[in-house]
Amino acid sequence: MNIYRKIYNEIKKYDKIIITSHIRADGDCVGSAIALREIIKESFSGKTVKASYENVHYLKFLGKSDTILDSDFEDSLIISVDNAELSRSNDKRVVEKAKNIIKIDHHPNLNPFGYINFVEEEKCACSEMIFDFFLNIPKRKISMLGLEAIYTGIMTDSGNLKYPSVTGDTFKKIGLLYDLGVDGLKIRNILDEVSIEELRFKGYVLENMKTTKNGVLYILINNSIREKYNIEYDDASNMVNALQGVKDHPIWVLINEYKTDEIRCRIRSLNIPINEIAAKFGGGGHKNASGVVLKDYESVDRLLDALDNLLERK
Ligand code: AMP
Repeated sequence: MNIYRKIYNEIKKYDKIIITSHIRADGDCVGSAIALREIIKESFSGKTVKASYENVHYLKFLGKSDTILDSDFEDSLIISVDNAELSRSNDKRVVEKAKNIIKIDHHPNLNPFGYINFVEEEKCACSEMIFDFFLNIPKRKISMLGLEAIYTGIMTDSGNLKYPSVTGDTFKKIGLLYDLGVDGLKIRNILDEVSIEELRFKGYVLENMKTTKNGVLYILINNSIREKYNIEYDDASNMVNALQGVKDHPIWVLINEYKTDEIRCRIRSLNIPINEIAAKFGGGGHKNASGVVLKDYESVDRLLDALDNLLERK
């Protein structure tokens, strides 16, 4: 039995389904959760299905997360999307319910916490896998919201179809989404919109970025800078893309201090795998897009040194 049929049959067995995602929401985890909810709602009859994710303002056009009550967890199937580690689930109650979880994800499968684990590391977005699921089930139906959520997930996790994980098949899927009525331009305009504060803050990032000996580009951000520019923590984090594409700087890092002992590092690279270094520092992620949370600036220096060494060897 193929994996799509297997998951389809599991969904059929349950009256209640809860879809969860990962902490620090992004377009792909929110897109995957909404899309799967819309598929189940439309294609299976008589199910109560809820999608749980952190609400982020730039995705509010897709609607707010459903509210999940403790009682919703009773006898329900949990489907975790786009989340590699159970401990990074956006809903901590999931950890206690681990036995009823199906994992659908595109990160390295170091923690196969599902009783079914559908993991395709090579896929550029989990939303692409959800679309594959949709295309492979009988009597399939999905709302326009579901299709827009898939489009959002694929575009945001593939750097607008620019990352190495993008294939001809990804483009075909975007084409199919257009054929089904998705207005890609409308969604990209929403996703690309910035506030005046964000634009000014981008100026700060470009003015103050630094580089290590061998060319790791990085920017340090803390609360006083965010306050000065009147910018939210997540919006500041999103500025990692501003450091992309600089000649001779194939690794770039945005270091955003949330609390003095919680310093989030978003690491990106071009053609140089950085996820093993991220894992050594207690984080994880993809070959060219990883993240780490560090407790102090000595660790940040060590991380930058380790990344710098990757360039030295080249
Ligand atoms: P981000 O920079 O938050 O967009 O993360 C890039 C990738 O790394 C995503 O696939 C995340 O799931 C993963 N990631 C980020 N932070 C961590 C972490 N602390 N532990 C494990 N994986 C992470």
